Amino acid sequence: MKKRVTLTFPKRAVQMPVTYRLAKDFNVAANIIRAQVAPNQIGKLVVELLGDIDQIDAAIEWMRQQHIHVSLSLAEIVIDEESCVHCGLCTGVCPTEALTLHPETFMLNFVRSRCIVCEQCIPTCPVQAISTNI
Ligand code: SF4
Ligand code: SF4
Repeated sequence: MKKRVTLTFPKRAVQMPVTYRLAKDFNVAANIIRAQVAPNQIGKLVVELLGDIDQIDAAIEWMRQQHIHVSLSLAEIVIDEESCVHCGLCTGVCPTEALTLHPETFMLNFVRSRCIVCEQCIPTCPVQAISTNI
């Protein structure tokens, strides 16, 4: 499971070895996508958290307890309806059933509110109809 989050560190937490603690205590890998961190200043990190979904949730809870502000990414999945051939391959990897095939029409159905932007569907699409908006 993958979750993209923005972490905002208060001054006192900027030096905290957060990625090390996530890996050691929660078995969650943190891939840093963007960083704006300077000593003794408020810092920001955009990271992709990879691991078991329960462990990621526990890691997020732990970061909040450390007064690190955690906001879920504003990235959204975009489906190019003109390219989609409704093959259903993407539905097989979607962990939240945000992507399903309609039982009668066999057309792809995307329920945005269920999507956690894990991006697992993107590489499965044979016609590259799935992307993110950022
Ligand atoms: S990114 Fe794709 S696979 Fe992941 S939850 Fe959203 S629709 Fe499903
Ligand atoms: S894998 Fe691509 S073409 Fe197939 S249903 Fe999903 S979005 Fe459409």
